[in-house]
Amino acid sequence: MLQIEQIPCLSDNYVYLVHEPEQGLTAVVDPAETAPVLAALKAHGWTLTHILNTHHHFDHVGGNLELQAATGCQIVGPAADRERIPGIAQTVADGDTFSFGTASAKVFDVPGHTRGHIAYWFAADAALFCGDTLFALGCGRMFEGTAPQMWHSLSKLRDLPGDTRIYCAHEYTQSNGRFALSVEPGNAALVARMREVDRRRAQNQPTVPSLLAEELATNPFLRPDSAEIQQTVGLVGAPLHEVFGATRALKDNFRA
Ligand code: ZN
Ligand code: FE
Repeated sequence: MLQIEQIPCLSDNYVYLVHEPEQGLTAVVDPAETAPVLAALKAHGWTLTHILNTHHHFDHVGGNLELQAATGCQIVGPAADRERIPGIAQTVADGDTFSFGTASAKVFDVPGHTRGHIAYWFAADAALFCGDTLFALGCGRMFEGTAPQMWHSLSKLRDLPGDTRIYCAHEYTQSNGRFALSVEPGNAALVARMREVDRRRAQNQPTVPSLLAEELATNPFLRPDSAEIQQTVGLVGAPLHEVFGATRALKDNFRA
């Protein structure tokens, strides 16, 4: 089994250490910065062997070159964006398997937030590292993609087993949830989840990771088939990517 450690970085990023104990491998997912990652490695007595990047944004690759210089680790990232990932040595793309000692991850291309965004799914450990594509109660902004493309990406993640843990890259859950309640106020599971989110945030506890099953029940960006959401965006019976796109557009202009 993999050991996964969450490291808060910058103002609201989550960086993850993924440790494979049998061969002693350790990866860091989307190192926003260097110092907190080195401190966490030291605290666990782990040696960094890999960096796994989901996309090129600075708050995901900011520690790449310093960590590589400090440890000689191998940097893995999206083939479609290889020129924008500092220090990249191994490219992966949709359908590839990334081998990590006795563990392995299936790679999904999930463009939309950026054109080269990928996600890593460690199936045996029920862990998904999805960067800024899927968030707890939200999804990433579409900086470099269209609604149909982003919906196609989210659909791939929607099909994973419900017990999959969603290790996303930001603590945005509370503000995402305020928006979610505005488009689907009649969703009792969402109302209950937000109570728990508010409680945790009041105690400064993380709300990430979540379970995919919770997201399927409460995340408006995975629920364009909800009658209430379709009514909210005025697209009853429309294709799901259109309902998704309208929901995303509402969120872009939402002020909680
Ligand atoms: Zn990003
Ligand atoms: Fe980000």
